[in-house]
Amino acid sequence: MDVKDLEVEYVMPNNIKVKALKGVTLSVSKGDVIGIVGESGSGKTTLAMAMMRMIKPPSIVKGSIIMDDDIMKMPLSEFNKRYRWVKLSMVPQASQNVLNPTMRIADHFIDTAKAHGIADKGEVIKKAEELLSLMRLDPHRTLRLYPHQLSGGMKQRIMIALAILLDPEIVIMDEPTSALDVVTQSSILDTIKELNRKLGLTVLFITHDITVVPRVANKIAVMYDGNIVEYGPMTDVIHEPKHPYTMSLISSTPTMNTKLSDIVELHEIAQIGENITGCSFWPRCPHRMDRCKYEVPNYVMVNNTSVRCHLYERTN
Ligand code: SF4
Repeated sequence: MDVKDLEVEYVMPNNIKVKALKGVTLSVSKGDVIGIVGESGSGKTTLAMAMMRMIKPPSIVKGSIIMDDDIMKMPLSEFNKRYRWVKLSMVPQASQNVLNPTMRIADHFIDTAKAHGIADKGEVIKKAEELLSLMRLDPHRTLRLYPHQLSGGMKQRIMIALAILLDPEIVIMDEPTSALDVVTQSSILDTIKELNRKLGLTVLFITHDITVVPRVANKIAVMYDGNIVEYGPMTDVIHEPKHPYTMSLISSTPTMNTKLSDIVELHEIAQIGENITGCSFWPRCPHRMDRCKYEVPNYVMVNNTSVRCHLYERTN
């Protein structure tokens, strides 16, 4: 999948326009697990929703997302038939609350398959059993249960199994571990890694918590204010962050041995709708220069990492 110059502009009720994505470019290879990291409001969920064609007018979407074809350009009915859940699916945020409390788990699988033209219930249940086993659940028991009989971790595993029911190439997981306790979180991360290894599943793993990403991903994309400011191999970005925002994100998750003096302090946060010229990180950046206030930085390759910062343009 290649995402190119993706822009999303939300029109607020007071007619203020807010650019939620400002030209996101991202190349996803088969079998990648990409951690998409950033704070609230950085555009992570908007990126996922744009990929799933879930952003409705009057919000404006521009740019392209190429799978076999440009999925942004095709009619929604064609996207729904050829791509949604078939090639590209999603585990939404707070997905544990999405299950219908009046339906047994088996019926969730049957309904999902039926919505995509698969009517053979026996075949669906067989596939559901396989997937639930893969998700480390007792399939026969789980399929008979109602959502209120399940823990948060079990519900999340079921949501992931539903997302891969039709064997998609790519699954977007939006904060899949955020509402779970640490032990369950760890176990879900192991399961996602296993799905990637056994099924060759490509995963876009969205999270605000950079500490969980190295457990599961081979690449990391750091988002800030509607853009990807750093993208590269996991170990390179975590051990040698280039962008000042990535540095501050990593430094803001101290270990037991971190000294207070090692923590990078960030300046004030801009308000929603505030129009910042130049690099949108400059009001908070400890390394800002005069040009940062006026010139938007371009992407620069530094070793294997793509970085959007004037600090690196100077040396090229
Ligand atoms: Fe900081 Fe300037 Fe780089 Fe932006 S372009 S991150 S303000 S140094």
